[in-house]
Amino acid sequence: MLQTTTQLDGAFEYLKKVGGEPTDAAAFEEAAGVGVVVTPEQISAAVADAIGSKKEQLLEDRYHFNTNLLLAPVTKALKWADGAAVRAELSSQVEALLGHKTEADLAPPEKKKKPKAEKPKPAPKVEEQAAAAAPEEGAAGTADDPYAFMPKPEDNNQVHTTVNFSDGSVMRIANSPAVLAQHMQRTGGKVVTRFPPEPNGYLHIGHAKAMFVDFGMAVQYGGVCYLRYDDTNPEAEKQEYIDHIAEIVSWMGWSPWKVTYASQYFAQLHAYAVQLIKAGKAFVCHQSKAEIEESREQGLPSPWRERSIEENLRLFEDMRRGLYKEGEATLRMKMDHKNENPNMWDSVAYRIKYVQHPMAGDEWCIYPSYDFTHCLCDAIEDITHSLCTLEFESRRASYYWLLDVLDTYKPVVWEYSRLNITNTVLSKRKLNRLVTEDHVHGWDDPRLLTLAGLRRRGVAPASINAFCREIGITRNANVIPYHKLEHHVRLHLDVNSPRTLAVLRPLKVVLTNVPEQHSSTVQGATLPGRLESQAYDLPFSRVVYIEASDFRLQDSKDYYGLAPGKSAMLRYAYPITVIGYSTAADGSISEVAAEADLSFVAGGGKKPPKGVLNWVAQPAPGQDPEHAEVRLYDVLFKSEAPDALGDSWLEDLNPDSLQVVQGAMVNPHLAATAKAFDRFQFERLGYFSVDPDSKPGQLVFNRTVTLKDSFKK
Ligand code: ATP
Ligand code: MG
Repeated sequence: MLQTTTQLDGAFEYLKKVGGEPTDAAAFEEAAGVGVVVTPEQISAAVADAIGSKKEQLLEDRYHFNTNLLLAPVTKALKWADGAAVRAELSSQVEALLGHKTEADLAPPEKKKKPKAEKPKPAPKVEEQAAAAAPEEGAAGTADDPYAFMPKPEDNNQVHTTVNFSDGSVMRIANSPAVLAQHMQRTGGKVVTRFPPEPNGYLHIGHAKAMFVDFGMAVQYGGVCYLRYDDTNPEAEKQEYIDHIAEIVSWMGWSPWKVTYASQYFAQLHAYAVQLIKAGKAFVCHQSKAEIEESREQGLPSPWRERSIEENLRLFEDMRRGLYKEGEATLRMKMDHKNENPNMWDSVAYRIKYVQHPMAGDEWCIYPSYDFTHCLCDAIEDITHSLCTLEFESRRASYYWLLDVLDTYKPVVWEYSRLNITNTVLSKRKLNRLVTEDHVHGWDDPRLLTLAGLRRRGVAPASINAFCREIGITRNANVIPYHKLEHHVRLHLDVNSPRTLAVLRPLKVVLTNVPEQHSSTVQGATLPGRLESQAYDLPFSRVVYIEASDFRLQDSKDYYGLAPGKSAMLRYAYPITVIGYSTAADGSISEVAAEADLSFVAGGGKKPPKGVLNWVAQPAPGQDPEHAEVRLYDVLFKSEAPDALGDSWLEDLNPDSLQVVQGAMVNPHLAATAKAFDRFQFERLGYFSVDPDSKPGQLVFNRTVTLKDSFKK
């Protein structure tokens, strides 16, 4: 006897697997758990175990704890247990442990800081149910498995969305056991996700979050993730963007299982459109864009809504054959023009565009809309988890409406918040303006939080992914402070970047007691104090350059740099003491004279001066050190949330976001080995990366990030 729906599903799955072959009764019974009776005592014990393993966290978080996390171990232990019985037992045991909900339990969990950003779009008219319920606030899942709250592919026959219609009917979204079984057979039960960028610009750090969700979840569960170009707007899309996206996805460390294009499914999508018309669920409409808008707003049907199926088929074919001009006809879905959700107001499925498509060429003059394309591509590719940003939440209804009418497999849809970061903009439309109106120097300008910009700035992909992991797959809208990203950038660079000495704004120091022809080397360390550290040579001679800001005429107690009569240590070399200086016509210090204590040996018992300076010496007497250009960056926008400024966002650009320092000095070992994108720490100055603008003898560096919060003297 099959006792539970889980067993029924097991049976279906087995039957699908063996097809029409005669059934091996024992194998069938095993696959379906025939005769397996799970007792309430067993459920109660398994639930108690699961609770026990998370008891501390549960007691601390109380009802803010995501108890869905406890379901997995129970269903794993008791494969054939009835889901509803497990859930009921879980809530009763949780309540027994925590008691009734208190006021604090009902209040939203405490936040460190109020989110400043705009609220997400108005609440959707779609109800979400337990299967895919993640906590509203804070990171969902755990650090080890941030995706733990998502339902398993095999559980995607439970209702997770309901759609209400204006006539009072309700659509409950769940796959039938048969549809699910067929899907499981095609995928082998794997997690299948997709990352669906539109190739209309370069990817930014928000997309890094999306990739962390999409590719990351597939990796976590041994599944697969498609890179699918959502290329249904031929005007905005370019091959340049397609190529860049492929490259930057791989730079981020993700390997798409397959690279696909919405456009490769155009024929299949067209066949679905015909099927939709035949089902009486789509019509050819001749309203103009403005008329459509107006009648939709008024809840009125299109005057063309009630055409016959035959006529619609004929006219849709006319559209395809190019018998209409642009704007003269659209194919619209016959959804529910009086629905409380605007996304159900007979959305456009196809529009006419006489535009060459980057992939499909001039094969088509009708192009499917996002609403028509996205869900069907997900169904075609057997996507188990269609994960997208919250602005799509209100489109769940139309997503499922279409799949339901066409009776396809239905992925689990789940939305997370868009990532925003302080003092920058991320939408591709805005990035595009910054680039095309020359406010920045290209899509990879290191001031932009495009992934290409971050790469050029010297940020490692691992630190971007670590940042994404830290912020979590949340649903709360907020603007993440830029320093959170910087923190991960520093962590990574601290471990991985070799140190070197360079000087940004040099001041000449003549060491009067070092002979003019003297030339020697001292040894620097790439990772001081660490086992993997390697020694490198630094030339030392009579003329050295220090940071201009490390010399002052007026000494003070908390100042460790140089001043007349004062000593400081040249890093890895000798202590020096100022014995004089000269000034230029404008009163600035032009040169310092000092004496070096050449008898000084590190660890030799003599106490070195407290201040330690970065310096670069003439590599040979009379030969200036190699010069470099250094680009220093500050935030691109003055205010924290330029998006909130509406149309005047461009006026908020920070005029000092880029500072170019010419005439910085570097040591020969660096000049000889540095390649574009290499990363270094210039001791005391920050982390720097070699800009691809560099030429032999003319290195250009970008400051990726300062050291902690700039050095103290
Ligand atoms: P933009 O407004 O920046 O152009 P988009 O949503 O149009 O963004 P797509 O190329 O369509 O960009 O996005 C690909 C995927 O990345 C989608 O799943 C989208 O939801 C997600 N995504 C885009 N921007 C962000 C963001 N700021 N934070 C998180 N995910 C994002
Ligand atoms: Mg888009």
